Amino acid sequence: METIILSASSDSSVKRAAQVIRSGGLVAFPTETVYGLGGNGLMADAASRIYAAKGRPSDNPLILHLQDPMEAERYCYINPLYYTLAAAFMPGPLTVIMPKKPIVPDTVTGGLDTVAVRVPSDPVARRFLKECGVPVAAPSANISGRPSPTRVEHVIEDLSGRIDMILCGDECEIGLESTIVKLDGEHLTLLRPGAITPQMLESVFPSVQIDDCSMRPIGKDEKPAAPGMKYRHYAPRAKVIVLDGESDAVLRFQQNAARDDTVGILCIDTHLAQIEGKHVYSLGKDPSQMAKNLFAALRSFDSHAEIQTIYAVMPPKDGIGMAVHNRLMKAAGFSVLKL
Ligand code: AMP
Ligand code: MG
Repeated sequence: METIILSASSDSSVKRAAQVIRSGGLVAFPTETVYGLGGNGLMADAASRIYAAKGRPSDNPLILHLQDPMEAERYCYINPLYYTLAAAFMPGPLTVIMPKKPIVPDTVTGGLDTVAVRVPSDPVARRFLKECGVPVAAPSANISGRPSPTRVEHVIEDLSGRIDMILCGDECEIGLESTIVKLDGEHLTLLRPGAITPQMLESVFPSVQIDDCSMRPIGKDEKPAAPGMKYRHYAPRAKVIVLDGESDAVLRFQQNAARDDTVGILCIDTHLAQIEGKHVYSLGKDPSQMAKNLFAALRSFDSHAEIQTIYAVMPPKDGIGMAVHNRLMKAAGFSVLKL
């Protein structure tokens, strides 16, 4: 299949992309979190095509992307807490899970009786969704198992020739996938950490439970509440090892390890100038920069076949750092070296 690549800056391109969605085709588009691979959320076939293009297991459901939070009333049995979340965080990087209405095809929800909804804030995504006029079912626009795409070149690398169209936008503002929460009666459970942090959720909702599947390895026979958490996501080709120790000890370890050309280093900005080596990459100076740079860094190591091992700093666990920590630990298969 030939993939048409269009700039999202022109209105006519966005209109063409929306037409592709309405007629059942697949379009990759930018959002503030990562690029999404969209299909018509009311067409079972479109969802099946998304799983096939990504090589994604069909029991790992998609997120319905909406233009307006109130559209969720058509697709879900609304929990009243949704309105509080919508007022506080939508549009934005928050996905909410509620019981699904029959209009949503089972292929979209991987056979679950719940559906995930999100209202992106990215201006291109919003123009695109408005033109589509249907909910757009989308997971991240990467081949399953690879790091999520935060720049259009990542999408082209993974999906060119496999989908109908790619809408080119800027680098994604946040760089990590949305926060996922599940609403069940009076309960709000965080299933996947993201840019909407537990502290932010607690500011509008007193008791936030955190599903521990998001912060530890998942057993072979376990069924986590967000099926995606059981897959080895976010994985580069080389083995990732996260370094746990004082800043000076981590710097010394990385300085020694970097002399070996088969080693990749993920460090922080203040250490960058002090580490000499062929494959040294800084994640930035604060947790927000780390979120934005992590997936691009993991992908850049993939393009150097000689790299066998990546030694990474341990991200902070608070604020958006919790999401960075979660993604990096999953990329590492929870492999930690204590220094
Ligand atoms: P992605 O956008 O590629 O990260 O994929 C969507 C994520 O949302 C996956 O981790 C899914 O497991 C999760 N998800 C989507 N729908 C549901 C649902 N109904 N219940 C739980 N998790 C969901
Ligand atoms: Mg994904």
